[in-house]
Amino acid sequence: MQRAKLYRRFRTLLIANRGEIACRVIRSARAMGLRTVAVYSEADRDAMHVAMADEAVLLGPARARDSYLNIERVIEAAKKSGAEAVHPGYGFLSENAEFAQACLDAGLVFVGPTAAMMTAMGSKSGSKFLMEQAGVPLVPGYHGEAQDEATLSEAADKIGFPVLVKASAGGGGRGMRIVRSDAELAAAITSAKREAKAAFGNDRMLIEKFVQNPRHIEVQVIGDSHGNLLSLFERECTLQRRHQKVIEEAPSPTLDATQRETVCAAARKAAAAVDYVGAGTIEFVSDGKDVFFIEMNTRLQVEHPVTELITGIDLVEWQLRVAFGEALPLKQDEIKLNGHAIEARVYAENPHKNFMPSVGQIRTWRMPEALDGLRIDAGYREGDAVSPHYDAMLAKVIAWAPTRNEAIDRLNRGLEQADVRGIVTNIPFLSALVTHRDVRANAIDTGFIERELTNLTPAPAAPHDLELCAAVAAILGEEAKAAGAEALSPWRTAGWMPVGRRQRGFTFRDRQGAEHQITLTYGNGPATLSIGERELAFASSAGTAGGFDLRVHGMKSHVVAVIEGHELYLRTRNGRFDLHWVDPFGGETEEQVGEDKIVAPLPGTVVALLAEVGATLEKGAPILTLEVMKMEQTLRAPFAGVLKAIKCKVGDIVGEGVELAEVEPVAA
Ligand code: ADP
Ligand code: ADP
Ligand code: MG
Repeated sequence: MQRAKLYRRFRTLLIANRGEIACRVIRSARAMGLRTVAVYSEADRDAMHVAMADEAVLLGPARARDSYLNIERVIEAAKKSGAEAVHPGYGFLSENAEFAQACLDAGLVFVGPTAAMMTAMGSKSGSKFLMEQAGVPLVPGYHGEAQDEATLSEAADKIGFPVLVKASAGGGGRGMRIVRSDAELAAAITSAKREAKAAFGNDRMLIEKFVQNPRHIEVQVIGDSHGNLLSLFERECTLQRRHQKVIEEAPSPTLDATQRETVCAAARKAAAAVDYVGAGTIEFVSDGKDVFFIEMNTRLQVEHPVTELITGIDLVEWQLRVAFGEALPLKQDEIKLNGHAIEARVYAENPHKNFMPSVGQIRTWRMPEALDGLRIDAGYREGDAVSPHYDAMLAKVIAWAPTRNEAIDRLNRGLEQADVRGIVTNIPFLSALVTHRDVRANAIDTGFIERELTNLTPAPAAPHDLELCAAVAAILGEEAKAAGAEALSPWRTAGWMPVGRRQRGFTFRDRQGAEHQITLTYGNGPATLSIGERELAFASSAGTAGGFDLRVHGMKSHVVAVIEGHELYLRTRNGRFDLHWVDPFGGETEEQVGEDKIVAPLPGTVVALLAEVGATLEKGAPILTLEVMKMEQTLRAPFAGVLKAIKCKVGDIVGEGVELAEVEPVAA
């Protein structure tokens, strides 16, 4: 067979990816004695994966299409660096059969399945024909070739609403819409097709019955080029938002031992249908009783670490061994399940603003120590930039323990210790999620996050006296640092100051918009703060990177404070707080964009105009759709009014803050 050439020993590996997965692959490759080559875009010159690799090759401009998705450039980089093999990671080119073939044609080992296997399984539609033949249970649906509206609509009627319209080439939850009635179908197909075309360059759709109260269960498989194929237990990834996984665990707390064996056997059968080689995942959707095949991912999965932690297997190492042409080191009955593992995906996004991605520079990056069953797979460090060009996932926090409850506790402790500043992250949201009673009880389905959103994103708490004192202490600390030791310090209690007591006012605005006034009195004698009627004696230790100790009314507590201009981020025993310091002298320099202007919240592409100039809009009416970081974001009327102007057209690439439309309020 041709396989002898496909898979062979190599010494230099190019990693055709970025972020945490590139770093993850480099770690295992290096441990196996391989030389590693990173590739990067102009936006990633200083990225972590570039710093980690032995060598790095520039691919091109920031846009993924010009860099990480550019097959020719990646192959050239491999040749230039003397790489003999390519690991594609996940996302990007990892499921691109053309790329796998291009590697082979260039004499490179592709760490993964062959182009033929990818083609067979890569299309959701095509793979379902194969699974039908292999006798793997499928969700009822239509996966035929005809794509005209009448055929699709007839198919949906026959399946029965609600249905799921899916891009056959889809991934990452994109190009997918739940449709509850015939009336919604055409619009859903149009928008799913548009998203699929943009993201995958292919807009073929399939339709599936929408399984009620669905759970996502998947099985890790791996095959070698000697005909061995193993399943490495299952993962449950039911906690999703917009069909995208947020928390994953292994084993599934929903299955008993018999069900576990059934789903694993079905997965082996599915992979065997294409004599699969490499690591892959067979995904199923479950109604709590039966499981139905939905797709195969012919690559390493984001959530692979939970499988590694319960099996003790390094999946990247095994991928590389398979690529060397070796046989898998264990037999099926030698794979043992040990304990429980759970993973949380840390994203640069704002759960309070509809999970809008957050871009900018990471000022503080503190992750829990990887001790006691905690593992951190990160792709970013302090000072790194999060660019709008790529996926917003920054890192994964993964916990292992003998039982599920202990693993959840451990994960939550890890999340509570994590502290990222400069950009907004979903860390507090993840913490709220894993400690939710229903998550603990495994009383969930894939709609859980959407339903519980308000409870999972509680309004930020108003600051207590402790936080207000901490804010003043942090500002004084910064000022003292800037002025040097000679400065007039409120901490001096000795009486050299000729002026006696001095007073200074501070105003802070909290996240709710409420203002808090504080008066500091200092000079001869101990400093005091008055907040309303209350007078508090307070003192603070010198600040360190880890924060400072604050003594308020004799009670000492530790505070972490970060000041960026007029923004203060505090962490105290009461939680996390953001305060804005309203400086009486500096004036407010915040840029005020007129409320009636609809501006791009982030750089993006205009993909649809949803209202016409002159139209009367209700508050919340959709105006246009922007694609930001690969997700569609609909911008809506901030109040009832008339659409006065549209200042962009479909296809425009717009920068952050660019005005896109204008709404004129109607007098109430
Ligand atoms: P999984 O089932 O493994 O979560 P998905 O189908 O969700 O896989 O696809 C993987 C996701 O990772 C996609 O959303 C893709 O856009 C994203 N992605 C691709 N490359 C990277 C990367 N280097 N870092 C973070 N995310 C990435
Ligand atoms: P992607 O390639 O984007 O990962 P999937 O087909 O794996 O697409 O679907 C993504 C998620 O949507 C699944 O994890 C599952 O939770 C949900 N899902 C998919 N198909 C169905 C279905 N037929 N009924 C209910 N939920 C589904
Ligand atoms: Mg999937």
